[in-house]
Order: sequence, then C-alpha cells, then structure tokens
Amino acid sequence: MTTLWARALVVTGALLLGTAATADPQELPAPEAWAALEKGDASKASAIFRDALDRSPDNALLHYGIANASLGLGRTDAAISSLKKAIERNPRFVEAMVLLARVAYGTADLDLAVRSLEKAVAILPRDRQLAEQLATWKKESELHQSFQTRPGARFNVLFEGPAQRAISDRVSAVLETAYGTVGKELDTYPGLALEVILYSNQQFQDITRAPAWAGGGFDGRIRLPVGNALRSPHTLDRVVIHEYVHSVVRTAAPTGVPAWINEGLASYLEPGDKTWTTRALRASSDRIPLEAMVDGFGEMDGRMALIAYAESEIAAGLLMERLRPQVGPFLQLLGNGYTVDQALSRHGVQPETFYAEWRRRVGLRDQAR
Ligand SMILES: [Zn+2]
Repeated sequence: MTTLWARALVVTGALLLGTAATADPQELPAPEAWAALEKGDASKASAIFRDALDRSPDNALLHYGIANASLGLGRTDAAISSLKKAIERNPRFVEAMVLLARVAYGTADLDLAVRSLEKAVAILPRDRQLAEQLATWKKESELHQSFQTRPGARFNVLFEGPAQRAISDRVSAVLETAYGTVGKELDTYPGLALEVILYSNQQFQDITRAPAWAGGGFDGRIRLPVGNALRSPHTLDRVVIHEYVHSVVRTAAPTGVPAWINEGLASYLEPGDKTWTTRALRASSDRIPLEAMVDGFGEMDGRMALIAYAESEIAAGLLMERLRPQVGPFLQLLGNGYTVDQALSRHGVQPETFYAEWRRRVGLRDQAR
C-alpha cells in the first residue's frame, strides 16, 4: 500500500485562480510558467519562474509558482523553502499555507504541517475542510506524542508502550537488514532517517483510513498495524519490507512511478514464497491492464486488489530480470519525467516485447497491455 501525496500536490494555475482574487490568468506574474505547469512541464515552468524571480524577488506568487514546479520535479525540500518564502512575503497567503502543510505532512514533518494549517485556519476560520483536516492531524500528533521512540541513525521507530517494545526491536532489526538488501537490489539508499510508526489495529484504521485489506502504509513514513504481530512474525517482516521498498522507490523517484511498478517491486522484494501470485491468477479469470494500475489500488476491493498485486509482482519480476542491476537508474528516469516506455528503451528493453512477455506470464490474451 502506498499513498501518493505527490499526485494531489501539484496545484495548477487554474486552481489558484479559482481561489485568488484575480480571475484572469494574464494577471498572474509569469503566465507562461503557469501554462507550462498546467501542461505538466515542470522544468520549463521552473526556469521561467526563476527568471521572473530574479527580477521580482519579493513576489509571493512567484515563490508559490516555483514551489509547484519543484513539486512537479520531485524536489520537496526546495518546494518547502519556496513556500515559506511565499508566506513571509504575503502572511495571508492561504493557498501557500495549505500546500506547505500538505507537503510537510508528506515528508513526515507533522509539526510543520499542523503549524501551517493553523495559520490557514486562523485566516479562514469558517472553512470546514481545513478545520477537519487540522483536527485530524492534531489527533495524530497527540497520539504520537504519547508514543515512545526507539531512535536510530536510519529509522526512528515510534510505538505505544512496553507491550510493543519487542515488536519495535524486531521491526528495527528487519529494517536495518532491508537497508542493505533492498538498497542493493534497487541501488538506492535513503539518506534521511525514516519514521516508522507502530499502531494498534484500531489506531491504524483511524489514522490511515486505509482499505480493510491493507497490511501497512507508506505516506512519507511507514505505518504498521501491529496488534498481534508477533503471533505471525514472518508476516510482520514481509509487511515491514514491503513498505520499506516504497520508501526506497520514493527516494529514487519522488514522482512518476506507476503503481504497478511501485507495488510490484514492493511485492517482489518482500521475503517469502511467491506462489501466491500464480494461485491468485489461477483462481480468477479477471485481468487488469497495466493502464488501470497507474494510480494505486486503494479503490479496489480485496479480490481485485489481490489480482492487481499479483500482476504487478510478475511485472516487477520481469523488470528485475531485464534491468538488473539498472533498476535504480531506471526508476530515476521515471522520476525525471520519462515515461515507462522511454525509460525501458533507454535501458535497451523494447517496450512491446516487455509487455508481450508480461501478458504471456499473467495470461492476458487480448492486445491490451
Ligand atoms: Zn504497497
């Protein structure tokens, strides 16, 4: 399971216009940059915004614009710093506050997220959505404050109390090993310490609102429901490593990775036997084309999700076969805006041959991918 905040993050010029005082795109500074953003060309937008900022360094909208471009390029830190500048220059810039809150939340900086949203709510006290979001995050923040932390150089594990200490020890040990094994497979080693939060099963549902079939979640930090986890330690290990792979994939490519690759790699690199994929596909004649597995599986019911994971696992296995040891560089291309087809070709893999082999392995007969 993964939550791709990034998709929700890119606030386009059009959306800004919907809430800003001005209604004419031509009245925004650097209109060509907003147009480029809307077309998804973040590099072009970024270059134009940068030029415009050289001329008007105190224009809050330009800082907000370049923050959006940075998000489109997967540069979260740059986006956060630009959004702070935008708010310094216009202390009533609610859109910038809301976006900063979301980006901060996505990087597991809950304090900054709450602070930014508080400012926005102070300006727009009647906005129900903002108030509800703030209440949810405050609840999460209070819950975490009651937790204990097992700090480490690479992983900070938060857990509720003595009863979960043994689980947190196991989770830490599994992650330390995964840092090396997954890192080697994907040639990617996250530089920042990753937050890992262990919840009771009920807390996990409350905080993540994940579908009931989800075994864990990654949204900038790893969240795990660990109610009776030590009764099936191998399942715990599997879920921990699965979620860790998502964090490594995000390090290699903050945006641009379709769910079938992200979930596929996470499922492929999990420990344990993989006969479940064959069983899942044998048990059903339903197949899902790759195009329908781009944005995540959160909307699927448990049965379709299982098929989606199985097909993705097989796709990832094929990717690993064809690309090893270039999977990390391949992911980086996706993060830099290459399509999957372009990135495959770049690594000498013919896309049509790749998809044909995948269709054969999952038993998909028609010409859909
Ligand atoms: Zn996942």
